[in-house]
Amino acid sequence: MNFTPVPDYHMHTPRCNHATGSVRDYADAAIACGLKEIGMSDHSPMPGGFDKAWRMDRSELNAYLNEIEQTRDALSDQLTVRVGLEADFHPGTEAYVEAMIAAHNWDYVIGSVHYIGDWGFDNPDCIHLWDDWKNDDAYCAYFELVMQSAQSGLFDIIGHPDLIKKFGHRADEHSSRIKSSEESMLQAVLKSGAALEISSAGLRKPVGEIYPHNRIVQRAAELGIPFAFGSDAHSPVEVGYGMDTCLNILESFGVKEIASFKQRNMTMLALTHA
Ligand code: ZN
Ligand code: FE
Ligand code: FE
Ligand code: ZN
Repeated sequence: MNFTPVPDYHMHTPRCNHATGSVRDYADAAIACGLKEIGMSDHSPMPGGFDKAWRMDRSELNAYLNEIEQTRDALSDQLTVRVGLEADFHPGTEAYVEAMIAAHNWDYVIGSVHYIGDWGFDNPDCIHLWDDWKNDDAYCAYFELVMQSAQSGLFDIIGHPDLIKKFGHRADEHSSRIKSSEESMLQAVLKSGAALEISSAGLRKPVGEIYPHNRIVQRAAELGIPFAFGSDAHSPVEVGYGMDTCLNILESFGVKEIASFKQRNMTMLALTHA
């Protein structure tokens, strides 16, 4: 590693039905690659069993929390383990999410947009629905939702902020509509005080680049929006994946620190070279 490792705050457990490995497996992987801090952030339950194949059930939430807390306490002299959640921003579910957040002692909550209406646009099973959309329209609808997720004030980290590009569908980045929807999204994030996630997950996806695009990273850096790193690991081998790539991009845009979270308080850690 080029950089001293920073916290990796985005990783899943098998409760979401599309990840492997126990919390201890993720923690052991983190220790093995020199990380000092991680946080778990499995896909949260949603009201009414919405898309329940891709998330934990509400009945699993306590076991999820217990597993993290036990691992955290067992490894406290080797690794800091934070208790997080990846909650969906889906209009109409805000009250449910707010109550779920209030009911537990989270270190942070990531707010992610995975749906435009009922369309799970990042779900490989729903990829054919791209045929019904113009790319620019899908991007604008997506950024509008990410903007609203920041305005909701519910979240500490805004997850993978241009996930819409996952399968390689591209918007016209020169269109004033796209530029202004990116800008409005970033202004909302700035105003909310949340951190923007810089995620290596896109490197493992058809799009082949980090989330968000360098252009968005650059503008967020100019605005002084804080960043938090996430690998979005769905397997222990992905812990810390692409960290150096992300940190190099941040450094190239003049970013000198990265967010860490404890009990929903953000503090900034200096980026340093190893
Ligand atoms: Zn997932
Ligand atoms: Fe996600
Ligand atoms: Fe995730
Ligand atoms: Zn994710």
